[in-house]
Amino acid sequence: MEDCIFCKIVKGEIPCFKVYEDERVLAFEDINPISKGHTLLIPKAHAANLQEISDDDLAAVHLASKKVIRAIQEVLHPTGVAALQLNGKGANQVVMHYHLHLVPRLPGGPPLPVSAWELQPGDMETIKRTAEKISGAMVK
Ligand code: 5GP
Ligand code: ZN
Repeated sequence: MEDCIFCKIVKGEIPCFKVYEDERVLAFEDINPISKGHTLLIPKAHAANLQEISDDDLAAVHLASKKVIRAIQEVLHPTGVAALQLNGKGANQVVMHYHLHLVPRLPGGPPLPVSAWELQPGDMETIKRTAEKISGAMVK
């Protein structure tokens, strides 16, 4: 897609710090890292989000993330790595080309903002009704 910054990275029109590439996937460092080693994995084919990405590209991105997380583990020894993927402006997706974030938390580093929400018990009746609605809308 012409105006997509990540498509431009795939085409080499914008540089990136590449860490991995295969036929379907490109992985590179985020230029506004939440922590050292913050890496993005994208399909080379443009798809805006989880709703649009093809099954094969989705599988390829997530299989590649296993390779990248292993390498991050080896060189940075994080105490944990958040895998995060946003869909839509309301969820704070800024770049509308599917991407999976791998965000390592390094030893002694601060808690990751993306995983530090407080747990509040929900209303079981509401949760049950919502689950019924979603499961009723599932397409097999
Ligand atoms: P989102 O909120 O859409 O999940 O995150 C988009 C991410 O893309 C942000 O973390 C942002 O720092 C990163 N990003 C935006 N533009 C560029 C760019 O030109 N190069 C790289 N490497 N990362 C970018
Ligand atoms: Zn794109």
